[in-house]
Amino acid sequence: MTVSAPHSAAQAGPGAARPSAGSRSAGRRIAGRRILVTSALPYANGQIHLGHMVEYIQTDIWVRAMRMHGHEIYYVGADDTHGTPIMLSAEKEGITPKQLIDRVWREHTRDLTSFLVSFDNYYTTDSEENRELCATIYSRLAEAGLIDAREIEQAYDPVKEMFLPDRFIKGECPKCGAKDQYGDSCEVCGSTYQPTDLVNPYSAISGATPVRRKSTHYFFRLSDTRCENFLREWVSGLAQPEATNKMREWLGEAGEAKLGDWDISRDAPYFGFEIPGAPGKYFYVWLDAPVGYYASFKNLADQRGLDFEDWIKPGSTAEQYHFIGKDILYFHTLFWPAMLEFAGYRTPTNVFAHGFLTVDGAKMSKSRGTFITANSFIETGLNPEWLRYYFAAKLNATMEDLDLNLDDFQARVNSDVVGKYVNIASRAAGFLIKRFEGRVQDSAMQHPLLGTLRAAIPAIAAHYEAREYSRAVRQTMELADAVNGYVDTAKPWDQAKDPANAALLHETVSVSLEAFRLLTIALKPVLPALAAKVETFLGIAPLTWADADVPLSSAQPINAYQHLMTRIDPKQIEALIAANRTSLQPTETGAAAAAAAGKAKQSAAPSAEAAKSETISIDDFAKVDLRVALIVDCKAVEGSEKLLQLTLDVGEAETRNVFSGIKSAYRPEDLVGKLTVMVANLAPRKMKFGLSEGMVLAASSADEKAEPGLYILEPHSGAKPGMRVR
Ligand SMILES: [Zn+2]
Repeated sequence: MTVSAPHSAAQAGPGAARPSAGSRSAGRRIAGRRILVTSALPYANGQIHLGHMVEYIQTDIWVRAMRMHGHEIYYVGADDTHGTPIMLSAEKEGITPKQLIDRVWREHTRDLTSFLVSFDNYYTTDSEENRELCATIYSRLAEAGLIDAREIEQAYDPVKEMFLPDRFIKGECPKCGAKDQYGDSCEVCGSTYQPTDLVNPYSAISGATPVRRKSTHYFFRLSDTRCENFLREWVSGLAQPEATNKMREWLGEAGEAKLGDWDISRDAPYFGFEIPGAPGKYFYVWLDAPVGYYASFKNLADQRGLDFEDWIKPGSTAEQYHFIGKDILYFHTLFWPAMLEFAGYRTPTNVFAHGFLTVDGAKMSKSRGTFITANSFIETGLNPEWLRYYFAAKLNATMEDLDLNLDDFQARVNSDVVGKYVNIASRAAGFLIKRFEGRVQDSAMQHPLLGTLRAAIPAIAAHYEAREYSRAVRQTMELADAVNGYVDTAKPWDQAKDPANAALLHETVSVSLEAFRLLTIALKPVLPALAAKVETFLGIAPLTWADADVPLSSAQPINAYQHLMTRIDPKQIEALIAANRTSLQPTETGAAAAAAAGKAKQSAAPSAEAAKSETISIDDFAKVDLRVALIVDCKAVEGSEKLLQLTLDVGEAETRNVFSGIKSAYRPEDLVGKLTVMVANLAPRKMKFGLSEGMVLAASSADEKAEPGLYILEPHSGAKPGMRVR
């Protein structure tokens, strides 16, 4: 088997080896580029939120920009539907996993469509195509000697009769003794360990004490030198230096043998595909998820009569790109290419990773109302193209995080899109229709300003292709500034006062409208619905990059101007935050509370919360001294990935020093001045970083694939430091 770098010329075809800014003229169609694009598959266990939308919007803008070149391009996606969390969620709701994933698929499809994400096919990993492809890949890897069967010992829940993933085992921290810690790390003292190290471990599903049990698992031998050699070669073609560096770190030095084998099987009960020839063994969800890209494309190929094999065979001249979040780089740059290579398929041309979304500089937070679902954004009446524009204005080709600053969001959309761009059309259209029968002055189409705009279009197209959207948007807005400057100097409203200036006025508004058309080409990948309205208004065919050189003509009068876009009203943002603060809480905390009270009658098995809570007397409860605490100061702890150091005022003569494992969820400066609740009579504990004199209370999720949610408690306003909670 030949080993080839991700985008060697052999793979990507003549002249199409690698999309690079400026390498081809935007105005011309390049024959022969065939491109398959994917976005990561959202897990079918929750709603799409604005963090997801960064990726879908980023991918969609790229796909639309490439479609405007006339390339043959397909954008496919699917819901990621398998695994233990889906199985348990369905069980909790009293429905089958299939019912759950069907419902979530409808919700996800609704949300993606409303944000104008233009998938050619949006499918599911729970499909026959996927089952067959997984079986084929697995059997070919086995034939290549890259699958091992090994007996491993694992935690087993004797009540629920299932093996427990690490995230479903809890117990006391072996270092500090904190209760209810997960099997991988302690949120109180920050130490990491194996689930077997936990003191008094229990199953988060049934509450039972896990037992050790042996089971045969199947492993993909990533440590095989063939895989390592292939990946060392493959890494050299990655587009992002950060990704290449990560890969090199994972691969280590030659001879270091850093790559471990990958456990690709799970024991029944499991919602997924049974492994052929291994009854009771299932493919781990992370094996079948990326294969789901091909399954979705196979399904599309069958619908459209495309030659699927020709796109996925080794040496295929088609290009293949995966847009992903930086957190799943490992799966897409190690396992996925190695699986493809040694199963006899082509490998990805490139993988493009982006950073995470923050809102107003902090992690999205349910308590602050900034954990914003895609559906709430639409339901509140906000225009999805506002968000598309804002994300585009901030996105680049790196893995940097992206901040949705809500004030900046309003200001920028209102001033750029409405103030600078839409305004050009609204000012010119009236004159052209009233005075000139809606027909432009043909000689005005040669105006030097328009020459400047036309000359800039290929560079803007190249910025999109290079995923430097912020540059494309910035350059477009600079051109819009120039057009507005031109209009302000010409003053059509003055020209209109004197009939002797009719020809001049005609020139001014004709240049303005043609400039508006050119700016529309530049913004079309970002604002596709707005561009479609403009095409109708101007009476022209759907715009492509090549149309930069095809000016408006007097032969085709424009249509009456219809309002194109409104400004963001600050009240809409307030409503959005309110909707996410109130709508999420009853469903989530309500469900947890009902489960804790043992009221979740529809569930087939006792829920985790219900089973593990033993009854205590009021006297037991009274032993816990809970107090309202004011966070006087908060600092990061040097040398700790998890801890923040809090200085708390609990109404005593001296403040308390508390270390808390909440660094992943909060920035220190955001906590200063906030009230929270602490356990004031916990025995002081000596930790590596100093003495911890209590514990702050926080809520967290038990879901393996849920957002890594962690939320400290905050009393209603009016509570004072030192008040007892009882
Ligand atoms: Zn601990």
